[in-house]
Amino acid sequence: MSFLFDPDSMVVTTALELLDSHQPVSVEDSTCEACGAQSPCDTAVNARQVELATDFSRRFPG
Ligand SMILES: [Zn+2]
Repeated sequence: MSFLFDPDSMVVTTALELLDSHQPVSVEDSTCEACGAQSPCDTAVNARQVELATDFSRRFPG
């Protein structure tokens, strides 16, 4: 698996912040509490893609 992003890059930092805020309101209500779209909203999906493409092992070597 190849990684596209460095964990310290602005892209990744922003994506993780977005992932944090774009969450469903509750277990019963899957509306995104940040943008009001059905969760997972496009923002959360895109942010998750970035997270999956990030090599976090670089931050914690060994
Ligand atoms: Zn959202």
